[in-house]
Amino acid sequence: MKKQRVMFLLALMILSVIFACSSQSEPKNVIIIIGDGAGFNQLQAGSLYLYGDENALTPHKFPVKLAATTYSMSGAGYKPALVIENFDYLKEKCTDSAASGTALSTGSKTYNGAIGVDTLRQPLKHLFEVAEEKGKSTGVVTSVPLSHATPAAFVAHNENRGNYHEIAEEMIQRSAVDVIIGCGHPFYNDDNFPLPEPEYKYLSQTIWDAVKDGSAGGDADGDGQADPWTFIESRDDFQKLNEGEAPRRLIGIPQVASTLQANRTGADGQTEPFSPPFTDNVPTLAEMSLAAINVLDENPSGFYLMIEAGAIDWACHANNAPRLVEEVIDMEKAVQAVVDWIESSSSWEETLVVITADHETGYITGPASGPVEKAASEIEIVYQPLVNNGKGTMPGLEFHSGGHTNSLVPVYARGAGAQEFAEIASQTDPQRGSYLDNTDIPRVIKTFLE
Ligand SMILES: [Zn+2]
Repeated sequence: MKKQRVMFLLALMILSVIFACSSQSEPKNVIIIIGDGAGFNQLQAGSLYLYGDENALTPHKFPVKLAATTYSMSGAGYKPALVIENFDYLKEKCTDSAASGTALSTGSKTYNGAIGVDTLRQPLKHLFEVAEEKGKSTGVVTSVPLSHATPAAFVAHNENRGNYHEIAEEMIQRSAVDVIIGCGHPFYNDDNFPLPEPEYKYLSQTIWDAVKDGSAGGDADGDGQADPWTFIESRDDFQKLNEGEAPRRLIGIPQVASTLQANRTGADGQTEPFSPPFTDNVPTLAEMSLAAINVLDENPSGFYLMIEAGAIDWACHANNAPRLVEEVIDMEKAVQAVVDWIESSSSWEETLVVITADHETGYITGPASGPVEKAASEIEIVYQPLVNNGKGTMPGLEFHSGGHTNSLVPVYARGAGAQEFAEIASQTDPQRGSYLDNTDIPRVIKTFLE
């Protein structure tokens, strides 16, 4: 009798394991969207301006809502208790985008400045390299230069993020990715005006010439033959590629020097959002993302794509709130385009979307936040919420830094496998609730490729 009961329990356990495994849906496609510098308050600022509501962006409505730590090996971890003890704690020993991009791509923490290498300068394996081995297509899209820290950290291996020429060379000539889209055009300034002389800052003349004449591109599919890139640069090119027939590999470099719109002339912190008007002949992040998806979705085995809203970070370094709002709206429109594509051409059963940030930039809070003197020699740290001034009006906010912070950043997930993140978010923050570490994100995604 006793033995029978043990057998019965054992059978029950086996059945429940089988059930758990089969109910765990593994996505065919994974789309990771990174707002560079986009903490909780950056997204809220954009949401307040766009909708007059602090939690109305598309990611705010995703079913899985978590937070993540961002510290690198150059930092000292994250301790919630210190956030409410010392207002300056969050400014200390923060990650940069190279280390946090590497963490999000490889699942390993490293030193600030590292692109896909560990603390011993040895190459780490990117999520995209694993995906490529499984027959998936892969791509990166960014609103800042294509060889900048975040896209580089998903594809390249280099001990210094500043080695743009080497990084671009590896991405374009030696990687197996199928789409690279980002700024850094050597022949244009930030207003889409032609330069008197080309400036080869983000890629070398050799690589540029090879991209232009169609000879760039190594063996992406492992058949021993070179797989050349198809190159596009005008907004019209990007829009035409949003649907319909697509090339095998696509490299897109919009005709701007460093970023789509954030660095256009006159866009200082004194003007309202969208004033001066946007530069015309430059694609949006949504248009670039749809072009990427149109190329990648030709693969019946699926694809992995990283989309970076890169200039949120640039606007926040400059404490430029109107540009921050513009960049969050550009990101929101890209997220909406991705969601529309999933709902019209794929499904939430086969595609996973994860939206996060590599770190917070600018230490944004509501007005009148900081250390407040209470009774004699008693200091209380106050974090005020942003002020809602209604749709179409800048919300009340203040910056406390021109650099990065160690704040928790949001993680939103929807689609196949999204619940897996909620299951491993084992820590709790008094302000942000359940959180995980940034390295947990690729670790979970890697299990989908096993
Ligand atoms: Zn930054």
